[in-house]
Amino acid sequence: MKHIPRHKEEDIHTLILAIGDGIWSRGTRRLADWCGLSQKHVQFWYEHGQRIPTHWIEPAQQCCMHYAGKRVELRRDAKVSKMRKCLRCSKQFMSEDVGHRICDKCKEKKSYQEAVSASDEFKVLPK
Ligand SMILES: [Zn+2]
Repeated sequence: MKHIPRHKEEDIHTLILAIGDGIWSRGTRRLADWCGLSQKHVQFWYEHGQRIPTHWIEPAQQCCMHYAGKRVELRRDAKVSKMRKCLRCSKQFMSEDVGHRICDKCKEKKSYQEAVSASDEFKVLPK
């Protein structure tokens, strides 16, 4: 089981804004072009995963170096991580905090992405 940490939201923000000269959509487009991915894909990193996948961190830093002449430190989000049961597939996975109850595999599925607007992940949380 691979532990995939989330990054601090503000750090991802800083990185993408640096790449886009202060403009978010330009940052995500440049980063997507740099990595050979769709812009939607890059936005998804931020909106649903709150992390840049490990193998894309270095390309993202190089992209930032190219456009902004600097690297941006990506700190890990220090939330309580432990093994939890996924609410969709019931498999154990490394959950980053109490609000993270769906494993990454399920999140990648189309059915989940369509259900994201319904926020079912949060409705079942204990009070
Ligand atoms: Zn799952």
